[in-house]
Amino acid sequence: MTSIQALDGPRYKVIVNQINTKGEVIAQKIFVCRYLFLAAGSIGTTELLLRAKADGTLPLLNNQVGKFWGTNGDSTTPIINNGRTNPNQGTPGVIAIEDFNNPIAPVMLEPFPLSATPEGVNVALGQGITKPEGYLTYNRSTKSADLFWPANSPNNQKITSALERTYQIFNQANGTTLATPPNFAATAHPLVVRRWGEYAVPMGKSRATVICLLSMALSCQVPLLVSTPR
Ligand SMILES: Cc1cc2nc3c(=O)[nH]c(=O)nc-3n(C[C@H](O)[C@H](O)[C@H](O)COP(=O)(O)OP(=O)(O)OC[C@H]3O[C@@H](n4cnc5c(N)ncnc54)[C@H](O)[C@@H]3O)c2cc1C
Repeated sequence: MTSIQALDGPRYKVIVNQINTKGEVIAQKIFVCRYLFLAAGSIGTTELLLRAKADGTLPLLNNQVGKFWGTNGDSTTPIINNGRTNPNQGTPGVIAIEDFNNPIAPVMLEPFPLSATPEGVNVALGQGITKPEGYLTYNRSTKSADLFWPANSPNNQKITSALERTYQIFNQANGTTLATPPNFAATAHPLVVRRWGEYAVPMGKSRATVICLLSMALSCQVPLLVSTPR
C-alpha cells in the first residue's frame, strides 16, 4: 500500500503496488472500502499515516501520529568465549538470563546467534525497559518515514549500565569477555508503546473507520489502537 485517502460516503481509497518476487512493481491498483485495517507493523503503519498527514489525505489525523515509538531495549553484544562457536556448531541453548534484581535497572540476556559471527564468539541480545522516547517524521524528499531514537537518553544510558553490570557477573562466572559494549543500533522489536494516533471520519450518521493493529510490547500500555466513531 502506498497511500490512503478519505472520500465522501464515507469511504477510503487506497492505492497499492502489485510487486513480483523481486520486489518490482508490475501494476498499480486502487481499492475503495468503508473499513480499513492497517497491519503494516509499527514502522509501516506509521509511515502510511505520516504520508497521509503530509499529503492532507486524512485531514482529521491528530498530531500524535509518529510519536511515542520505542523498543524492548534491544542491544546486541558479542561475547568472546573459550569454546567453538562457528561455523559448524548449532545455536546455543534457547535460554533467558533474567537479572530483575539488578540495582540499576531490570534487564534480560538471551542468545542471539548471527551467521556472520566469527569462531569463538557468541552474540547476546540484551533487553531492558525503554521509554517511548522515539518518534518518526515524514521525509518528503525520500517519501518515507525517518526514525529518531535517542540512544543516549538518560533511560537508555541506565539500561546500558545495568546490562554492563549483568555482563560483568556473567563474564566472571564463565571466563568470558565482551568484544564490544552493548550496541543499540538495531532492534528486533519495533514497537509503538502508547496510543499514538487515531482517525475517524464523521460524516452524517455513518462513519468510516481505520483500525491500526500494532506490535505487542513487553512494557506496553495500550498496544492496540482502535479508532471509534465519536
Ligand atoms: C530476529 C527476530 C526475532 C524475534 N523474536 C521474537 C520472539 O521470540 N518473540 C516475539 O514475541 N517477538 C519476536 N520478534 C518480534 C516480532 O517478530 C515482531 O514484534 C512482530 O512480527 C511484529 O508484528 P507486526 O504485525 O506489527 O509487524 P510485522 O511482522 O513487521 O509485519 C508488518 C508487515 O507489513 C508489511 N508492510 C510494511 N509496510 C507496508 C506497506 N506500506 N504496505 C503493505 N505492507 C506493508 C511488511 O512487509 C510486513 O509483512 C522477533 C523479531 C525479529 C526480527
